[in-house]
Amino acid sequence: MDEVKIGLEVHCQLTALKSKLFCGCSADYRGAPPNSHVCPVCLGLPGSLPVLNSKAIDLAVMVAIALNCKIAETTLFFRKNYYYPDLPKNFQISQYDRAGGVPIASEGYVTFRVDREKKTVRVRRVHLEEDPGKLHYPGTIETAPYVLVDYNRSGVALLEIVTEPELTSPRDARVFLQKLRSILEHLGVSDGSLEGAMRCDANISFGGGGRVEVKNISSFKEVERALGFEIVRQRDLVKRGAYVKMETRHWDDVRRVTISLRTKEEEQDYRYFPEPDLVPVRISAEKIERLSRDMPELPEARRERLMREYGLPEYDADVLTSDRAMANFFERCVAVYGKPKPVANWLMGDVLQCLHTLDVDIDQAKITPEHLAEMLKLMDDGVISIKIAKKLLWDMMKTGVTPARIVEDKGLIRITDWPTLENLAEKVFIEYPQAVKDAMIDDKAVHYLVGQLMALTKGRADPEVANQVIRKKLESLKAGCPSE
Ligand SMILES: [Zn+2]
Repeated sequence: MDEVKIGLEVHCQLTALKSKLFCGCSADYRGAPPNSHVCPVCLGLPGSLPVLNSKAIDLAVMVAIALNCKIAETTLFFRKNYYYPDLPKNFQISQYDRAGGVPIASEGYVTFRVDREKKTVRVRRVHLEEDPGKLHYPGTIETAPYVLVDYNRSGVALLEIVTEPELTSPRDARVFLQKLRSILEHLGVSDGSLEGAMRCDANISFGGGGRVEVKNISSFKEVERALGFEIVRQRDLVKRGAYVKMETRHWDDVRRVTISLRTKEEEQDYRYFPEPDLVPVRISAEKIERLSRDMPELPEARRERLMREYGLPEYDADVLTSDRAMANFFERCVAVYGKPKPVANWLMGDVLQCLHTLDVDIDQAKITPEHLAEMLKLMDDGVISIKIAKKLLWDMMKTGVTPARIVEDKGLIRITDWPTLENLAEKVFIEYPQAVKDAMIDDKAVHYLVGQLMALTKGRADPEVANQVIRKKLESLKAGCPSE
């Protein structure tokens, strides 16, 4: 009854391309003034003719190989006809899987790991299409009094990757997307950290109800949120005895709700026609062979290598390679520091936790592999305690300052000096006389006193020395006043 089925349509820009899919305009449009990267072709002016960027085919084939797909021998472009302000020529050049249309690749799969469990989702198809322009709504889509259009993005090469509706939770959807991003980044075809480079539509059905499509989700975090919201909304409807109708909804990431755009019954049938200005594209077996030979290392291969080269357990290698930036960070840090396992442990433990809390990716945080290595050395050399190291990590993440500098500025060096700790223990004994009496007979109270000494030094005291100092003091008290 409670069954959730999620399918994803991921649009990723082939950011490795210098120019757009069908014209010579620069695809590097980010930060440029609106409508400055345009020409008659990508504006769709009458009489202009598209010319296919053949590099886009190569990149798409590489992705298809990495996603274990069958690659079409011949692929065609179609016109997807619809009227919308982001598409001035009234059709989008795309691919189609009906009426003789063949997408560039189909029937693949991706494996990913959620916690300890390995999962697989099938890829229905991969196809190439041009990106439409970008609409800017001042405020939200519902309240904006007008809309602005920027055609810089219009005509940029997009790869659409469609999964079968086999994902069963918002979390799985997010982890799958991360794995997909890692694959695309290892291939060097798409940089997911660029704004809008990877976008997603999700369809979700719940307990056999109607299929709801959620459009325009801008990041993987938002995918998880949008799907989470939809599950709650649909479950609520079902509970109240209502039927979940088939419809298309928009994810409002400001208010974090989905809102109805249109019900499926009203949705227009895109009239697909073969694109008469482009010839069919043949993909030869030689091309596929050459591309697979020259492919960069993929996450799966890298995982194997991390296990072999650094002696990491499979689980660690899996977690690290599910994010290209994380795997790079790991290898760089080990190159400087030398010990793989502690680096992996810190990355998968405290570092991931910090990133999660700060809601950033590792390449957005200010910490560098060199700084983490330096911190681990300070710990090995006994300059800082593990407790201080954990605190230090937060500072490094947020400020980018070197650990040595933070340690010096904040006076975080570990205290092992006996007289210093003895003086501080004196204060603890005066402040907690009852605990001192208890400690004479009960070991638990000894721990309490050590804890107070640690707290007094804000965790800087060496726990072993602190323990010895307290016990020594208790011994001498016992010897000094036996009647007490
Ligand atoms: Zn152009």
